[in-house]
Amino acid sequence: MGDVVTAELFSHIKGLLLDINGVFYVGNRLLPGAADVIKALRDRDMPFRIVTNNTNESLATLHRNLNKMGLPIKQHEIISAPYAAVLYLRQRGKPKCFLLLDDKVVSDFQEFPVSETDAEVVVVGDMGDGWTYRVLNRAFHLIMKGAELVALHKGRYWQWEAGLQLDIGAFVAGLEYSTERTATVIGKPSSSFFKLALDDLGLTADEVAMVGDDIEADVGGAQAMGLKGILVKTGKYRDTFAEKSDIVPDLTLASVAAIAPML
Ligand SMILES: [Mg+2]
Repeated sequence: MGDVVTAELFSHIKGLLLDINGVFYVGNRLLPGAADVIKALRDRDMPFRIVTNNTNESLATLHRNLNKMGLPIKQHEIISAPYAAVLYLRQRGKPKCFLLLDDKVVSDFQEFPVSETDAEVVVVGDMGDGWTYRVLNRAFHLIMKGAELVALHKGRYWQWEAGLQLDIGAFVAGLEYSTERTATVIGKPSSSFFKLALDDLGLTADEVAMVGDDIEADVGGAQAMGLKGILVKTGKYRDTFAEKSDIVPDLTLASVAAIAPML
């Protein structure tokens, strides 16, 4: 029965969207069989895009690190939340920005003027250990004065080798709460992010499946746009999170390695 369902699912699939953190690696450790999936996709000529909410590396660094880790992925095959944010801010007409970003990601936003006092947009990404009351209070003042709150994503937690870690959604939700404004969310699970990836692949939603370890951002986001959602039980996956969620994946796999023989 399971095999029939799987074959049926994959018979319509012409391309894949793949999450990377927690799916291909955890921390700096490549997961077993992960590299074989990229090889199988290349062998089958199946187009794919890496769609990642990673907000602590520039696109160029992320690309270099993936290759160093043994994943032969091309830079144009990576769609990151910071990259999508740059496209969004260009559409907004290059507004003045207050950037709550890791120094390594700021280089991707060089084209935008920055201001601490009259920014039109507050961009919230990852600041690692740089989060302070001062920086959050500055963002609060700007949003209260009318600046748009743009969140690269609103993730609750992410998986590191040492276990689950607090993610930036906590800061985004905090700013929303205090300012009584709603953030524009750029990365997964926002529909515009999935649309950007589908357009880049040149495929329609019913031809594409999304593979990820986050039942809300990856599986739920994809399904809401009409894609198939495949959940892998690695990275941030926990049985309890999947059980309490209303989202039902089209397929659940032990790890991404299980994809290779299905292609
Ligand atoms: Mg992930």
